[in-house]
Amino acid sequence: MKLCRFNDDRVGVVSDGQIRDVTDVVADMLAGRPAAKGDPLVALLPHLIEAPLDHAKLAEYAVSDVRLASPVAAPSRILAAPVNYKAHVEEMIASGLAQGHQLDIAKAGLFLKAVSSLAAPSDGIEIRFPERRTDHEIELVIVIGRGGRDIPLDDALGAVAGYTLGLDITLRGTEDRSLRKSIDGYTVIGPWLVTADEIDDTGALDIALSVNGTTRQKANTAELVWDVARIVSFASTYVTLLPGDLIFTGTPQGVGPIRPGDVLRAEGQWIGVMEVQVRP
Ligand code: MN
Repeated sequence: MKLCRFNDDRVGVVSDGQIRDVTDVVADMLAGRPAAKGDPLVALLPHLIEAPLDHAKLAEYAVSDVRLASPVAAPSRILAAPVNYKAHVEEMIASGLAQGHQLDIAKAGLFLKAVSSLAAPSDGIEIRFPERRTDHEIELVIVIGRGGRDIPLDDALGAVAGYTLGLDITLRGTEDRSLRKSIDGYTVIGPWLVTADEIDDTGALDIALSVNGTTRQKANTAELVWDVARIVSFASTYVTLLPGDLIFTGTPQGVGPIRPGDVLRAEGQWIGVMEVQVRP
């Protein structure tokens, strides 16, 4: 299932360029459930997938006619891998943008981006410090489902609800990474959440990013230093993962500056395409 949020807090199921509005179905299902930790919509997903949908009763929209919102409304946290593609590590060394322990995920671990930086594809990115360099980073993003604590490697994929695409927008500079990556609107996810059953292989998934039609980043998750299962398992030794928690898996080589007016086009195999404008 491809689940999106759109317009004014509507929830939709996406297929073939069309969105079926399941907002009322979701509201009815949530009303009968006890409150739980984490994002309620993501927690509901296993039940929503099973629920019979009366398509005749559901309003339908073209994807191109709606404003896509962040597919996860309220993650309790956003974790991210700093250096998880070898070729990106090499470009960071060559450009002098990182050094020392920051270049080895086994030493650097994960970092946190503020939840308040989360934005929708339709929001557009507002460059906060135009006199400084701001980079794009496309990433595969894990959306935690069942979650848990101390999740063993061989159970880690089962703790995942699905996947989406992410832009980890990054101000370059000397400040702590978590601050430079937590500026309002600097965490864009979308276009929708794709449940794990629709992803053939998280370890062989193409991602790409173009800016104004020119490809800047292109990679396959086979090149990840730590794969999805290892990231989830590792993260769960620090925090109890909850439904809707997001984990950015790291960006491949090809990061580069964005400027007002640029159009970013992110693409992920088995996921789809997300277009985001850098506000003029
Ligand atoms: Mn990143």
